[in-house]
Amino acid sequence: MTTIHAAPPGVDPMVGAAPLDAAMAIDWIRRTAAAVHARREYLNQLDRAIGDGDHGTNLDRGLLASTGALWAEPPASVSAVLAAVGRTLVSTVGGASGPLYAVGLRSTGRALEADGDQVTAQRFGAALREGLAAIERLGEAEVGDKTIIDAFGPAVMAFADAADSGRSFGVAAVAADRAAARGAEATTALVARTGRAAYVGERSAGHQDPGATSTSLLFHALAEASAAP
Ligand code: ADP
Ligand code: MG
Repeated sequence: MTTIHAAPPGVDPMVGAAPLDAAMAIDWIRRTAAAVHARREYLNQLDRAIGDGDHGTNLDRGLLASTGALWAEPPASVSAVLAAVGRTLVSTVGGASGPLYAVGLRSTGRALEADGDQVTAQRFGAALREGLAAIERLGEAEVGDKTIIDAFGPAVMAFADAADSGRSFGVAAVAADRAAARGAEATTALVARTGRAAYVGERSAGHQDPGATSTSLLFHALAEASAAP
């Protein structure tokens, strides 16, 4: 039995005590899809300021297709859920963000192939680290470049640290959610060094990065899914 240490302020330490299973993983993706769908114009607007204005539309298309695929044929393991979403994103999202999210989720899923339908917080933290490394290998961006990595990196570290110190899945997900939101907000001040936004150079400062913003929606949805009754 894992000891549950003190939760962050304002978080019930018993929240999300259950491990991640396939149903919860599907709920996670559905909640992400709903959040991105509701904010697709906002994400487009952020991308219009420093890119080509399609980030919300791109991701909305990919996530709607993903929820459709999960509904048509619900996978039986967390690993298979993430593999199916990765496959769908890569074939439906045109922008740079599609392959990056796809490789991140697929690599996270691949690291969980032996875990079946019960993924502990600690195992998920280790798998997320693999997902982050795969995004970094593909995109060659680092923290501070004003990309997805600026939210994904801190979120993964916060999740894994919380899980490694014995916190529940839900508490680790709340820590990741907060770190992703802080990371996304911090991209406003940055000058883009990677991706399309690098073309606008200094003018990219003063605008929040769209990809880091959608990553914060992904981790917010994880916190919601793991706390859902
Ligand atoms: P595109 O730039 O091809 O139009 P999107 O608009 O869908 O693709 O996604 C843009 C987002 O992708 C950016 O806001 C940034 O966060 C992310 N991004 C772009 N290039 C990289 C990269 N090399 N590594 C990580 N994230 C990246
Ligand atoms: Mg774009």
